[in-house]
Amino acid sequence: MPDTVPDIPLWIAHLPVVGGLAVPWITPRTTDGRYLLGSIDRDRMHQALVYRWCGVCGRPLDDRLVLLMRLSDLPRQCTNEPALHPQCAAYTAAACPMVSGKLDHYRSTPVRLDATMAPSSDTSARQGAAAEPWFAVWLRTYRVIPDGDNLAASYNDISPLRIRSITWSVSGLL
Ligand SMILES: [Zn+2]
Repeated sequence: MPDTVPDIPLWIAHLPVVGGLAVPWITPRTTDGRYLLGSIDRDRMHQALVYRWCGVCGRPLDDRLVLLMRLSDLPRQCTNEPALHPQCAAYTAAACPMVSGKLDHYRSTPVRLDATMAPSSDTSARQGAAAEPWFAVWLRTYRVIPDGDNLAASYNDISPLRIRSITWSVSGLL
């Protein structure tokens, strides 16, 4: 659990709240009503990538968007996780225990997923592994590419506006 939880900004006040944290729009919900934070609803992930909706608030992206990337994702210049509004990325960087660096390790037990839910592609590799540094990649747009059974947002042929470290600097929030 994080020591302190940031206030939930007005623009994401429509999201459900668990433990004081706004639950991202792409978070799957089990049939018994639990939100699986850290997992992704596959249908919403694809919708968000294709229609250019924000993965946190579910609304259309503007002309500035942010991909939150792990260090190991940077060389591929793509991620399965939908792009975010800058303000939604800032909230995630402050609130998400993994992105903010408040967790040292990934959870060591697999989460139970319903059939409609997608674990991230390297879930098994990450279980129990040391947490990675995260980066915010600022873009004007991205390209949707196939990535195995999933889709990914790629900036392979697009110059990022900037790339900022989130967990490697104290004041590095965007
Ligand atoms: Zn948003």
